[in-house]
Amino acid sequence: VIKLGGQSLIDRGRSAVFPVIDELAENLNTHKMIIGTGAGTRARHAYSVGLDLTLPTGVLSVLGTFVSMQNARMIHYLLAKHGVPFIEPAQFPQLPLYLEERRAAVFFGMPPYTFWQKNPSVGRIPPHRTDTGSYLVSEVFGCKRMIYVKDEEGLYTADPKKDKNATFIPEITVSELIEKDLQDVVVERAVLEIMQNAQHMREIQIINGLVPGNITKALNGEKVGTIIKVD
Ligand code: ADP
Ligand code: MG
Repeated sequence: VIKLGGQSLIDRGRSAVFPVIDELAENLNTHKMIIGTGAGTRARHAYSVGLDLTLPTGVLSVLGTFVSMQNARMIHYLLAKHGVPFIEPAQFPQLPLYLEERRAAVFFGMPPYTFWQKNPSVGRIPPHRTDTGSYLVSEVFGCKRMIYVKDEEGLYTADPKKDKNATFIPEITVSELIEKDLQDVVVERAVLEIMQNAQHMREIQIINGLVPGNITKALNGEKVGTIIKVD
């Protein structure tokens, strides 16, 4: 499973997205890929208006789902010439066919909980968003890898956009990461929680999708970016 970041990648437009599309296409012959999309800045805007209008988490979750679907549709149209379909949750039973025939499918990263999204412990933003939905797909289908394509080399000791002294962490376990109690992390915290009970997907990889070649390296199992694993 490859998750293309919403804010971190797709929102950057052509300069970030076109090279990623080309790299995904180049890998179609060697790897089967289930490609999830983030929602990004437009979802954050919808959440912000929704919060102001006192809407509950389940309704915000519906809004975020549609934004991640917009991004999935855009990625799908760019990959359409390679015969890669866009699938909604109801079409996941056909996933084996698509992967066998076309080698890849695009889905929207949000878990399809919609109104049934649980409330977070603080605030009202849906805690299970596109990092989590993508992870859950990789876990339930026992996929080979879960690769997050974002705009930083991986995990740092702090958000490198805000703290220039942040240092890179190439590999860490979930319990070490929780122990560190970092102020902000590069994936949704819900992924780290869910990973602790993982049956299949016991490590995730975060890579910088702005660097050409990184996606191919990650698909080939090379050590690029950060690996977060369960002990
Ligand atoms: P996406 O659009 O893929 O969901 P997000 O913007 O939600 O991406 O999350 C990725 C961002 O998280 C990075 O661009 C980075 O600025 C930020 N970030 C926050 N904390 C960290 C950290 N500890 N290490 C690396 N990046 C971090
Ligand atoms: Mg995010």
